[in-house]
Amino acid sequence: MTLASTKSAPVPNPWVMSIAPYVPGRSTSSGGAAAIKLSSNENPLGTSAHAAAAFAAHKDDLARYPDASAHDLREALARHHDLDPARLIYGTGSDEILHLVAGVYAGPGDEVIYVRYGFTVYDIAARRVGATPVIAPDRDYGTDVDAIVSLVTERTRLVYVANPNNPTGTYTAAAEIKRLHALLPDDVMLVLDQAYAEYLAADEDDGGLELARTKSNVFVTRTFSKIHGLAAERIGWGYGSLEAIDAMHRIRAPFCVTTAGQAAAIAAIGAADFVEASRFHNATWRTWFSDEIALLGNAGLRAIPSKANFVLVLFEGVVTAEAAYNALLTSGYIVRWVPGQGLPHGLRMTIGTEAETRGLIAALREIVGAA
Ligand SMILES: *Cc1c(COP(=O)(O)O)cnc(C)c1O
Repeated sequence: MTLASTKSAPVPNPWVMSIAPYVPGRSTSSGGAAAIKLSSNENPLGTSAHAAAAFAAHKDDLARYPDASAHDLREALARHHDLDPARLIYGTGSDEILHLVAGVYAGPGDEVIYVRYGFTVYDIAARRVGATPVIAPDRDYGTDVDAIVSLVTERTRLVYVANPNNPTGTYTAAAEIKRLHALLPDDVMLVLDQAYAEYLAADEDDGGLELARTKSNVFVTRTFSKIHGLAAERIGWGYGSLEAIDAMHRIRAPFCVTTAGQAAAIAAIGAADFVEASRFHNATWRTWFSDEIALLGNAGLRAIPSKANFVLVLFEGVVTAEAAYNALLTSGYIVRWVPGQGLPHGLRMTIGTEAETRGLIAALREIVGAA
């Protein structure tokens, strides 16, 4: 017997089709020529030599599945951050972890809050499980704790906050994060996305890991893609309650981090000099870059104060962000224009090497007629 159907083909779930596909940063210029890529917040210093060597040492292990429990990686992370290895999860980039949290806690009819100009993956993660994204207004492009709290309803299951935030680079201080947690109901999970945490100065810790150690409704995510320079290997991790971790293990992909990736990540944790050199380089050139943008204020350019490895530059004068984006492409610089995120007037620019950063400013000065 065949069942009659009015549909001529399988139909995707409507909540899936409501997702706007993720748009990665470009890596080639308009003509396809290699260009300077400052569109994906990668580490311009590359990867530590230790991590690269650890990666290369695994070329003969390709036939074997990786350690599904990422035992050694969890132990290394736990030692470094003073955490319980049993409460650590790992994933194919922290993107996967952000999806796992939604998969565990949210579903159709539930609400997921994040701030306007928040990381695009939150919207995708919420919609993927059929939940409804709820967008809290920003305060000066940054996180507004009171705006988030005012949107909490009995349907709220998750709140995502990136700190520092991407694409704005804005930072929420520890006291505000603590206040946000205190104002949330106990059954709402606060997800603190710390993809750029290692770029903060020692006295700028937002207290997220400390909250996650003691509160069952706080979950922290981190990545090896940014300061550690391992974006190609896709390694992220998260820290939360045993209950949260147990639930995530049930839905994660069985072998989500590669053998060479686990080894590289362990070596990267030990490469303290490389991490500090990367942080120092970034802080130095981010300050220089932001000061240079301030000098272009009369051309309508304005840098949002950033604590990450990129700066969001607003174009509020005659030269629009779109025009500057295209002119930069022609000059060989790829930055990120994000009109789809409500920022048609902004370009996100990753801090590159000294030569790249100086070159980018020289190109910008020419574009706005200040050269
Ligand atoms: C880059 C980034 C991530 C995750 O990157 P992965 O490569 O998937 O680990 C997560 N959150 C924010 C805010 C980011 O910018």
